[in-house]
Amino acid sequence: MIQVLDKQFETFLPADKIQSEITLMAQKLNEEYAGKELIFIAILNGAFMFAADLFKQITLPCEISFVKVSSYQGTNTSGRVDEIIGLNTDISNKHVVILEDIVDTGITIDKIFTLLRAHQYASLKVATLLFKPNAYQGKNPPNYVGFSIPNAFVVGYGLDYNEKGRNLDSIYQLKAETK
Ligand code: 5GP
Repeated sequence: MIQVLDKQFETFLPADKIQSEITLMAQKLNEEYAGKELIFIAILNGAFMFAADLFKQITLPCEISFVKVSSYQGTNTSGRVDEIIGLNTDISNKHVVILEDIVDTGITIDKIFTLLRAHQYASLKVATLLFKPNAYQGKNPPNYVGFSIPNAFVVGYGLDYNEKGRNLDSIYQLKAETK
């Protein structure tokens, strides 16, 4: 059991289990993208650890770009405008794999698909370490999933609780509050 800020969390996915699953995912990607021009787009902040560990096990020639998805109030529109910050590389004709820490409702991934639509990529897929199928309501389900998990809040291995807990090498689940 660990404490992050005011909340208690219990071990959910130990570090060695995470690493073995990433090895399997990397093997799959190495097979499926052999001979293709491959670029990973890792979504900051949460995916940085997963992206680094996965990338080390990719044996194909490939690139990686780290981006942030931000949403701001546009000047002459009523809604918010989404943008991808940091994609300073040409993805046209490349096979793109988005790296996410967790796909929850799927809103973030759907935004990314919309934002990348104008780029002439060869293909676009999603690899996520964690997936919450019971929360998912999106249009672009992940193609590579490390672990499907229940709808509980998790921290560690890049994922935060109010910016804390990202440094933990295992993943922890919020402990049910005791009354
Ligand atoms: P979505 O757009 O799929 O609903 O959510 C994706 C983002 O929500 C993730 O990148 C992550 O930042 C955040 N998120 C969703 N579930 C969790 C969770 O259990 N723990 C943490 N730390 N972040 C989460």
